[in-house]
Amino acid sequence: MIKQSARSRKKHREDKKAQLVYWQEHRNCEVCLAEGRGKGAAIQIHEIKFRSQGGKCVPDNMISTCLADHERMHFRRAKWLYREELYKMKGENDEKKIRDRNKKYDVSLF
Ligand SMILES: [Zn+2]
Ligand SMILES: [Zn+2]
Repeated sequence: MIKQSARSRKKHREDKKAQLVYWQEHRNCEVCLAEGRGKGAAIQIHEIKFRSQGGKCVPDNMISTCLADHERMHFRRAKWLYREELYKMKGENDEKKIRDRNKKYDVSLF
């Protein structure tokens, strides 16, 4: 059994808190909004740059997501979401911008 150090437990608590604060400000799935599906309840917070790759639990690296879109960030199936796309989607609620981007990426619903 690996014992967690007090330091890593503290870090874990801080990360959870940061995710909660981010979620309180972004309760709708940012991918659904960006892809023009309207408001879908966000139930998870994804770290765009994975923690295993040195990603941090900071607002710039977090995105609110529904379960279906979250799977697209971790599993290469349906339409894989690239990290660059996620950064562009963050906080993008402007309808015209969404339409333009959908054209650019040729987003198809699945
Ligand atoms: Zn979604
Ligand atoms: Zn994730």
